Amino acid sequence: MNVCIYRLPREESIVLPGSHCPHCDRPIKFYDNIPLFSYLLLKGKCRHCGAPISLQYPIVEGVTAFFSLLMFLRFGPSLDYFFFFAFVSGLILITVIDLFHQIIPDVVSLPGIGVGLLGSLILPHISFLASLVGVLLGGGILFLVASGYQWLFKREGMGGGDVKLLAMIGAFLGWKAVILTIFLSSLIGSIVGVLIMILKGKDFKYAIPFGPFLSLGAILALFWGEQIVRWYLMLNR
Ligand SMILES: [Zn+2]
Repeated sequence: MNVCIYRLPREESIVLPGSHCPHCDRPIKFYDNIPLFSYLLLKGKCRHCGAPISLQYPIVEGVTAFFSLLMFLRFGPSLDYFFFFAFVSGLILITVIDLFHQIIPDVVSLPGIGVGLLGSLILPHISFLASLVGVLLGGGILFLVASGYQWLFKREGMGGGDVKLLAMIGAFLGWKAVILTIFLSSLIGSIVGVLIMILKGKDFKYAIPFGPFLSLGAILALFWGEQIVRWYLMLNR
């Protein structure tokens, strides 16, 4: 995961060269490259040159492990587990890359659309039609929002990466979850946006990447979608 996060935006190979310290370039041995444990054993420093290892590494490792466990508890040892683990891993990748580089790599989202569609044919969670409509609805809605914003304000508000990301979410979770994801990500994104405006003052030109909110919305929809919809309907009775 961390290799992809570091190398995908830099358009480097994710296979070669092997892991090396970005400071002294010395290769990292496999026993110094064990998720979480190596960070703790090395006390967050390179074995050779002592340069600090970014906290991003153990955080990404911990978050990935947490969701892996959550999905294993939900799906058990099944194909569903691997399918949704691939989905959530993709969302974590996209979130971190979008936060630091303001891009959503096509090499994650586009194959993701294919894997999601294929999964709907093999696994029982949604029908192929629900998955296909999810791709079209997810991509279509954000495409309209992005074009509308650009037409209205004469500048880009939402990137094409967000469009492809929501299409991928639709492929994995179906069109109903697309609607829920838009609702949740807009809600959370607005709250965070207002908080940042309050903290940073009125002169607010800082662009907040939307990918992390879409990813968070999709994860909430995946795990607690039914509960959230039921709770929402109860509130509006
Ligand atoms: Zn080093």
